Amino acid sequence: MQIKKGIPVSPGIAIADALVIDAHDKPVLRRTVLPNRVAAEVDRLKKAIAQSINEIGDLRKQTAAALGEKMADIFSVHARLLADKSLVDQLIQAVQTERVTAEYAVYSTLQAQAQSLLQSDNEYLRERARDFRDVERRVLSHLTGGQDVGLATLDRPAIIFAHDLTPSQTAALDKSRIVALATDAGGRTSHTAILAHALGIPAIVGLEDITSRVNTGDTVIIDGNRGQVVIEPDAAVLMDFRQQQRRQASFVQTLGELRDLPAVTKDGHKIALYANIEFPSEIMAAVENGATAVGLYRTEFQFLASDHEPSEEEQYEQFVEAIRRLKGKPLTIRTLDLGADKISDSLETVKPHAEPNPFLGCRSIRLCLQNLNLFKTQLRAILRASAEGPVRIMFPLISHVMELRQARMILADVREDLDDAGLAYDNKIPVGMMVEVPSAALQAKTFAREVDFFSIGTNDLIQYTVAVDRSNERIASLYSAAHPAVLTLIREVIKAAKRTDIEVSLCGEMASQPEYTILLLGLGLRSFSITPPAIPEIKKIIRSVKLSDCVKVAKKVSTFDSDREVLNYLRDQVSKVIPEVFDGRSIGN
Ligand code: PEP
Ligand code: MG
Repeated sequence: MQIKKGIPVSPGIAIADALVIDAHDKPVLRRTVLPNRVAAEVDRLKKAIAQSINEIGDLRKQTAAALGEKMADIFSVHARLLADKSLVDQLIQAVQTERVTAEYAVYSTLQAQAQSLLQSDNEYLRERARDFRDVERRVLSHLTGGQDVGLATLDRPAIIFAHDLTPSQTAALDKSRIVALATDAGGRTSHTAILAHALGIPAIVGLEDITSRVNTGDTVIIDGNRGQVVIEPDAAVLMDFRQQQRRQASFVQTLGELRDLPAVTKDGHKIALYANIEFPSEIMAAVENGATAVGLYRTEFQFLASDHEPSEEEQYEQFVEAIRRLKGKPLTIRTLDLGADKISDSLETVKPHAEPNPFLGCRSIRLCLQNLNLFKTQLRAILRASAEGPVRIMFPLISHVMELRQARMILADVREDLDDAGLAYDNKIPVGMMVEVPSAALQAKTFAREVDFFSIGTNDLIQYTVAVDRSNERIASLYSAAHPAVLTLIREVIKAAKRTDIEVSLCGEMASQPEYTILLLGLGLRSFSITPPAIPEIKKIIRSVKLSDCVKVAKKVSTFDSDREVLNYLRDQVSKVIPEVFDGRSIGN
């Protein structure tokens, strides 16, 4: 039995077989063969390559059927690599001229290719390094007679292990078969982590080398509460986790009973609970869990999950589908937030540039303002859909007042075009913005006069305030919503919105984390936008506290100097009202 700790990003316990789909490499020692063994070694190499190509073909088919075409694309790339004659010749030459084992030839040649790609300035080429590593591992597994990286286990529930998953790969996962996720890379609010949370399955990221410790077919436990992976657990541990699983299932059931009760504090203050979604299909779960609106619809995921750039009509259809599913509840549509870690291969009208600092680069509203066709097409689709039910528009990553004004001007242009064409839309459509950049938070008073609502995006606000990449596992301990500087910005944004009498909600993951509910209520927040599976738990906390006590908690928190003090104190406060909330769960950051 082995235990490995990472960053818990979606709670719950899963016990199933592992399925390793993208692993990290293990070093292979240089060994030579006798001159009379060289020919046999070359044959062994050729046989392993042929077996790998066959296996990749089977995997492609199985993956397409089980997890969708997007995931299967990985294998097409791998097949092309191994079909490249110059690469195969290079491998054979290494065995013949250096007299090294086939294993070492594969390892050293493919590692060198991967390394040189990693040095590239081009993001796409750097990404391709992973394909070389994957192919290397597969050929090595055939040379050593090791485990196949197969999907055979997918006829029953499986836990996916990957070095990293892109948001679009995660979005394409078949939720009926995947019961948990674990990755080497990633941070608490990386988009992959957010998606895993939205899928409602336990997930752990930032496990560093988990893919080289686990083999496909191993029995594993994913403890998404504490961020622990247990590999090949012994009988006693397995029994203990099964018991915990049952206890949690009954807690989740009691939460389900809250569904139709209002989110109101013990002293009678009504709180709005909205849902964050990536696809219209999540709306059913959101409404079932008690959401009264969608506070954040991440529209870029339609682009990430598609193999082409969605047309105005396709976007319109998705928006109308979401509106119909909401049956009169408002839909907050955020305009495209592409770029940084959300890269879409499907963009046809925009050519993404390689940027040295993509999180500080041409992402989100900046990308839209530099690509007006893309932006206007989406705005037309949103406005046309607004004729079908209540819609709000929200602009992401606003950092300058002029940027907001420019976005509003383009929206006005699109409205005029629709007027000219005689197409219907809601001409009182509320327009809001995300406050997720420190400059916007510091200028909240000014912005509040120019929009109908704010939504605080703490996922980005934290990374830009504390200068910590939200998806980098190596510095994940520095990334904290409890940082006093972040809390000061949140407090000021809420105050500015209240003074101007506009709505302010919070849609970052912080709103879904139970340790922060009391504090956010005490800071004056009255609208939370949450990943659907977390809604019942947050509602339970709201229904268990008095707002007057929350205000005292927020005052006390403002006297602390460090995120650790803040978190320890907040955790105690929540545990006092609902001890089960942290039953076995590690403290978030
Ligand atoms: C945020 O930054 O807090 C947010 C909600 O947006 P995203 O996670 O999509 O960047
Ligand atoms: Mg954001």
